[in-house]
Amino acid sequence: MMQPLLPPAVIGVFGSGQLGRMLALAARAMGYRIHTFSPEQDSPTGQIADREVCAPYDDLDAVRDFVRRVDVITFEFENVAAAVAQVAAEEGAPVRPGGHVLHTTQQRLREKGFLARAGLPVTPFAAINTEAELLAAIRQIGAPAVLKTAAFGYDGKGQARIDDPAQALAAWDAIGRQEAILEGFVDFEREVSVVAARGVDGAFAHWGVIENTHRNHILDVSMAPAAVEPRIAADAVELAHAVLTQLDVVGVLCVEMFLDRRGRLLINELAPRPHNSGHLTIEAAVTSQFEQQARAVCGLPLGSTELLRPAAMANLLGDVWETGEPNWAAALAVPGVKLHLYGKKEPRVGRKMGHLTALAGTIEDARAKVVQARTALSEASAN
Ligand code: AMP
Repeated sequence: MMQPLLPPAVIGVFGSGQLGRMLALAARAMGYRIHTFSPEQDSPTGQIADREVCAPYDDLDAVRDFVRRVDVITFEFENVAAAVAQVAAEEGAPVRPGGHVLHTTQQRLREKGFLARAGLPVTPFAAINTEAELLAAIRQIGAPAVLKTAAFGYDGKGQARIDDPAQALAAWDAIGRQEAILEGFVDFEREVSVVAARGVDGAFAHWGVIENTHRNHILDVSMAPAAVEPRIAADAVELAHAVLTQLDVVGVLCVEMFLDRRGRLLINELAPRPHNSGHLTIEAAVTSQFEQQARAVCGLPLGSTELLRPAAMANLLGDVWETGEPNWAAALAVPGVKLHLYGKKEPRVGRKMGHLTALAGTIEDARAKVVQARTALSEASAN
């Protein structure tokens, strides 16, 4: 096996949001150095990094210069063009996960196609490029269905639900008549995810099943360990193992799944990086998803993913600022609650600004605490 990249090696990160920030915090704790590349300045990652390069992703000269000064390349944002991975490969820097992983996961049709070909369970889907294809697909898949743009969608953006086949064309209009994927609507009992890691040597580690609830298509609260039957938990982990192995991932990848009312797991989507639902691993596990990403991309042994206590995480969106500066002291007065803020200046509605995590004896207690703390943010402050 290749020699591991040991501290103070430089990890280069494309993207500069909160995922890169939390990677930087974990990697710097281990003595690594972090460089970040994105069009943003004073970014969440840049505030923690040793070096922040501010350039567009298609400035390939800047990309090349960035790559030459780092020992390994990773991503915190998967919608980076394949050309970036190509330049990194030309410069001889290891790209982990590899460009093929980005290529597959940054487009919904490629991603679902990969999953289906790998024999993994997904809801019925079809590629939509023309009205005729859409009308044929809605006849075959039936309603309700969900129409999603094939490329660059996240947090429910570029999605339209179709409750009646007669609405199909209007739904396509609503998402701008772009190349799309039509998916059978899953009447799910709950949504879960498995965040997992794979090392350079093929070693596999996971944090078990995490349960997720969404609000307006954006992750709201995550809890671990998910209250699912052991058989379902084992199946979910097995699916994640299959995905990381068949995609040949080096790094961290999250598999988002639906558990339908018949107890079947269906894969919704993949995120080839640490994931919002795994933020609770920072406090709840021996090794966080971010430390694990650093270990995996540097070729070190993966760390223990043992969960220390049941945990819940609640996202803090810009909405929390609508009535003024949040009452941080009131939230932090709830015992066992930890605050993470990402250093973003503008608290826009729907923007992920930070999160809270609570540990407790049970997931119900952890959830109650974290929600109590988030509610306390809008209490009037004492002064
Ligand atoms: P996505 O951007 O694909 O992760 O979708 C965001 C959210 O929309 C998911 O977490 C689900 O709550 C919902 N959703 C997406 N696709 C489907 C589907 N095929 N059936 C039911 N709900 C869906």
